[in-house]
Amino acid sequence: MVLGRKLRMGMVGGGPGAFIGEVHRKAARMDGQIELVGGAFDINPEKSKQMSKVLYLDPNRCYSCYQEMIEQELKRPEGERMDFVAVTTPNNWHYPIARDLLEAGFHVMCEKPMTISVQEARSLVQIVQKTKRVFGLMHNYTGYPMVKLARDMVKNGELGKIRKIIVQYPQGWLATALERTGQQQASWRTDPKQSGGSGCGGDIGTHAENLSEYITGLKMTHLCAELTTFVKGRKLDDDVNCLVKFNNGAKGVLHASQISVGEENNLAIWIYGEKGGLEWHQEHPNYLYVKPMGKPMQVWKRGNDYVAAYSPAAARATRLPFGHPEAFIEAFANIYCNFADTIRARMEGRKPDPLALDFPDVHDGLRGMLFLDTLLASAKSKQKWTPFKK
Ligand code: NAD
Repeated sequence: MVLGRKLRMGMVGGGPGAFIGEVHRKAARMDGQIELVGGAFDINPEKSKQMSKVLYLDPNRCYSCYQEMIEQELKRPEGERMDFVAVTTPNNWHYPIARDLLEAGFHVMCEKPMTISVQEARSLVQIVQKTKRVFGLMHNYTGYPMVKLARDMVKNGELGKIRKIIVQYPQGWLATALERTGQQQASWRTDPKQSGGSGCGGDIGTHAENLSEYITGLKMTHLCAELTTFVKGRKLDDDVNCLVKFNNGAKGVLHASQISVGEENNLAIWIYGEKGGLEWHQEHPNYLYVKPMGKPMQVWKRGNDYVAAYSPAAARATRLPFGHPEAFIEAFANIYCNFADTIRARMEGRKPDPLALDFPDVHDGLRGMLFLDTLLASAKSKQKWTPFKK
């Protein structure tokens, strides 16, 4: 059976003035495979209505809350319901919303960090296994073609055995008490009830953790961390400094910060093996720096035939010819593309293309929560070096 139509997307979060919901909407429609049909866009039902007007959506599919959305969508004939729902709310809502959606039979795309506790994350793993729904997690940095190329180079042994990984995610936007001005994104991110146990660690440290595990295929096993709150009166950390041990013996340094004045989104990674090194910068994502031992450094550029020949995953994640930069929204779209192809294959009763399975999932979400749990335990402890829980 060929589905022969776009996938129907619903959304929770992404109301007026929200940040990431709009990025999801733009990215999801980029390849013409997905259409947004409705949602519960805001914690305030009036604002949710306002958003659906701006988006010219069917007013019958604008809901006052996600529970109403689930209830009303289930009343529609099976072939007319939303196929999947994107959860783009603050962190504390991810678990209850994703859980209820999965149990009602919807596929889910969820923002990171997946939950606010390891317990919730483990529960979500079980729910995904039980319901057999497709679950995507928006660790968008794994959607970049040059990150996929880096992953394939490491997998093919170009660097030899990995010895050292440096990953950083410095920002400067919370260098002052922005949350006290009422700024929406700062307000909930610095509130432990909505954000979780770690502010900076949860918001951007998890991206650094996920990126290093994705590219290297290694798992972090131990952390030695210090969390600092530089801004007076703030309830959560705004700076993370951390040493890392990986499961093959590699060592690493991970730092993330929201008080590094002048930095924007300076996520970057350096990976060193016995035979060579790699370097990638999120703010210049179309280049991958490759450093084979004893040879001049190479700059691999997105969109070139040599990239496509080396990495089918990078080729699949590329839309424009070289020299026309692709970046943040395209990376989200690449996650959506693989997620949607996997759902489509499921609905058509066939196996997905193996390349389509390349998107972060519920297990990556659990890794993120284990990382945060270990980070917090290490920061509080005297002995510092702290193993990940099994
Ligand atoms: P935001 O404050 O800009 O938007 C959150 C939206 O969710 C608001 O419209 C709010 O009204 C709505 N909302 C809150 N509770 C709701 C509920 N119960 N039902 C319906 N709507 C609800 O926040 P943001 O910056 O867009 O972040 C949202 C999520 O996305 C967070 O989990 C954050 O960690 C994640 N995020 C990820 C990335 C990324 O690069 N992957 C970037 C930014 C944010």
